[in-house]
Formats: sequence, C-alpha cells, structure tokens
Amino acid sequence: MLLKDKIAVITGAASARGIGKAVARLFAQQGGRVAILDLDEGAAAAAAADIGPGHIGLACDVTARGDCERAAQEVIRRLGHVDILVNNAGITQPLKIMDIAPENYEAVTDVSLRGTLYMSQALIPHMRSRRSGSIVCLSSVSAQRGGGIFGGPHYSAAKAGVLGLARAMARELGPDNIRVNSLTPGLILTDITGGKLTEQMKTEILKGIPLNRLGEAQDVANSCLFLASELSSYLTGVTLDVNGGMLIH
Ligand code: NAD
Repeated sequence: MLLKDKIAVITGAASARGIGKAVARLFAQQGGRVAILDLDEGAAAAAAADIGPGHIGLACDVTARGDCERAAQEVIRRLGHVDILVNNAGITQPLKIMDIAPENYEAVTDVSLRGTLYMSQALIPHMRSRRSGSIVCLSSVSAQRGGGIFGGPHYSAAKAGVLGLARAMARELGPDNIRVNSLTPGLILTDITGGKLTEQMKTEILKGIPLNRLGEAQDVANSCLFLASELSSYLTGVTLDVNGGMLIH
C-alpha cells in the first residue's frame, strides 16, 4: 500500500474513461482516500462512489478561484487533511493557429493553466502548515513537441505554461517540503478528443510510437502514483514522459 492514510485531491476526475478517474481508482487501491473535483457535483459524487466507500465528490470549476478555495476547505473539513493534489482538469480543441478565437484561447488556457494555479494556491497554505505535500500537474507531449497530435497551438501553449508553473512552484515550495512534478502524456485513449480522433489519425500517430500502441489512462495513473507517493521522495521539478517513446530526446 503506497498511499495508506493519504488524502488526495484530484481535479477533473469524473470522466468515466478519463485519466483523473483512473488515478482516483489506483490511489484508492493503494489505501488512499480521494476527493474527486469536477464541474458537475452529481458526476463527481457518482465517480467517487464508483471507486469505493469513503471517497467524496465535489463540484469545482478550477477556473474560479472561489470554487477552488471552497472545495479545498470542504475536503479538509470532511477528510481531515490533504497530502496530494493532482491538477488534472483540462480541455482541448483541434484548431489551427488562425482559427483560435479569443474565447478558444481563454477556455483552453484557463482550465489547464489558471486552474493549476488556483487549485494549487487553494492548498499550498495547508500543505505548508503541515510541511508536507506532493503536487502532480498534467501537462502534455504537445507542450514539448509543439502539438501535432490533436490539440491546437493554444493547447500546446497552455500545457507548456503548466510545465513552467510547476517548475517554479517546485523551486519555491521545496523548502516547505512540498514536491511539485509534471506528467507529459502522449496520446491517451480517453474522451477528451470528443470523438474527433479518426482511425486515420490514430494510424499516423502510431507510426511515431516505438512501443506501437496508444496509451491507456492506466499508464498515466501508474506514473502519477509514482510521482504522488514517497517512491519519488527526492524528485521535484521533474517532467516525466508517458508516451510510449514518442519523444525520445
Ligand atoms: P477527459 O476529457 O476524459 O477528462 C477531463 C475532465 O476535466 C472532465 O471530467 C471534465 O469535466 C473536467 N473539466 C473540464 N473543465 C473543468 C473545469 N473548469 N473544472 C473542473 N473540471 C473540469 O480528459 P483526459 O484525457 O482524462 O485528460 C486529463 C488531463 O490529461 C487533461 O489535463 C489533459 O489535457 C491531459 N492530457 C490528456 C492526454 C490524452 O491524450 N487524453 C494527453 C496529454 C495530456
């Protein structure tokens, strides 16, 4: 049991086939208690109930600072404390550079980048007071290779921003014994693509993956467990690629 008695907050974890839900399930299997935060309270609560008793689901739009603060306080009140935060909520859009309208830019950067900032800010004082914490941020291979998988340039920019934010937080929070690390998944089979990923696109992408398969949410969850748990006790500010070898560099 790698997370016995640990409490974890996971944003964007209500999506049934999503990375956040897979992380929540794995953390629960490892003895952790999980708070699933997502836009819809009913969906968050149902996802929490689905992974077992003792977990909770709360409504939280990570782009709203007040939501993040309220959710953080409620988790602390109901579960006692928080050891782990996984900044997982994110959306994408397959747009070309000239098609990105202001509302597209705002939607995509707000969820990944502003959301990571606000949710971290909501829990950092608590983690500081306990002199203990592990924060995992979901970036993407799109940040490293400039897209070309599914999301548009605004998605690449948002996810590159997440890497910078995570590294800066790691530097600032290290003395408080709070570790901050990032995951950069390749193409993972979830519903984030909203049915717009064609078989032809998958075949093209597969040609560039040495392990010769697309990723599963479980692949990312396994890596997230490593970064969240004490297995990675001397790691902070790292970027862990979870992409089947798509970006060997
Ligand atoms: P998903 O669409 O299955 O799940 C995303 C979840 O985020 C949904 O439950 C959604 O309701 C929630 N969400 C959206 N906006 C929100 C907001 N404002 N506040 C709170 N929750 C919100 O996506 P996924 O594929 O599981 O992606 C999870 C994370 O991994 C995202 O940050 C994504 O960018 C990143 N990622 C995914 C892939 C991939 O190929 N699937 C690759 C690299 C990185």
